[in-house]
Amino acid sequence: MEFLRPTTWAEALAAKADQPEAVPIQGGTDVMVEINFDVHRPPALLDLNQVGELATWSREGDTYRVGAGLPYVKIIEELGGVLPGLAQASRTVGSPQIRNRGTVGGNLGAASPAGDSHPPLLAAGAVVEVESRARGVRMIPAHEFYLGVKRSALEPDELIRAVRVEAAGGPQYFSKVGTRNAMVIAVCSFSVALHPGERRVGTGIGSAAPTPRRALEAEEFLANELDWDTRLDTAVLRRFGELCSRAASPIDDVRGTADYRRHAIAVMARRTLTWAWNDYRKVRAA
Ligand SMILES: Cc1cc2nc3c(=O)[nH]c(=O)nc-3n(C[C@H](O)[C@H](O)[C@H](O)COP(=O)(O)OP(=O)(O)OC[C@H]3O[C@@H](n4cnc5c(N)ncnc54)[C@H](O)[C@@H]3O)c2cc1C
Repeated sequence: MEFLRPTTWAEALAAKADQPEAVPIQGGTDVMVEINFDVHRPPALLDLNQVGELATWSREGDTYRVGAGLPYVKIIEELGGVLPGLAQASRTVGSPQIRNRGTVGGNLGAASPAGDSHPPLLAAGAVVEVESRARGVRMIPAHEFYLGVKRSALEPDELIRAVRVEAAGGPQYFSKVGTRNAMVIAVCSFSVALHPGERRVGTGIGSAAPTPRRALEAEEFLANELDWDTRLDTAVLRRFGELCSRAASPIDDVRGTADYRRHAIAVMARRTLTWAWNDYRKVRAA
């Protein structure tokens, strides 16, 4: 197996253009598991760890540009205040060892429906920055990035450079159901992001459909029915939960049944919206 080690982004793009079959490796917490279990043996690995800029983040106005190689631990420690949904999800990934190595870029690259970063990225309206030598930069909204089970909009000659996420304009929450508290792939997960400036609520569903997805009907319902100046109406909350559950299309598998997942999505949707709403009202009252 060939091992390619570019030291700059330009070299990485060139390597991917010349050998599209080369598999990028960042933290390796997905790639190495697949190789160790002989799931597949790529002809070449493209190690991105020497491309230092990928492991950094920067700010452009209200937008945070999170490098594809920034490990979860840095998101938790350095971006928890501005990207709370993503930081909460990052805290639930694997174990400290996995959070030291694993990255959002790798989560996006793997495009598993159960990846924990996807629901908060969807709820926040994040944009994935990808690039190829031939066609330059493409900005892909998160909700257009996931195409199928472990399939994304990334072309064979493209690499993920960063993900762009607006600083939270309101409370955000992530909730995950697993069979235990740590080192667990989600049975299902849910994220909510309040965007009070736009009188809008964003959603993200994980591990309850072939791809991570938004609950569009539920978002539309809240855009019409949520009264931002009063209490959160119980009937509105219940309907929101139902519509989120309806947006899922889960399967029965080793981690849980489709029925359980539908039920849990409704519960998590109601719970996270209540938490977020209470925070929002508290800040307004202060
Ligand atoms: C014990 C254990 C527990 C885990 N627990 C969780 C969990 O709780 N939640 C969760 O979501 N995941 C979990 N995972 C999976 C994994 O840790 C995450 O998906 C992580 O985000 C992968 O990041 P990475 O940098 O290690 O990716 P890598 O393994 O390096 O890469 C993953 C995929 O992304 C591609 N890729 C990487 N970087 C790029 C790039 N810049 N451009 C294009 N493609 C790229 C790779 O080719 C590969 O297909 C766990 C894994 C293990 C081993």
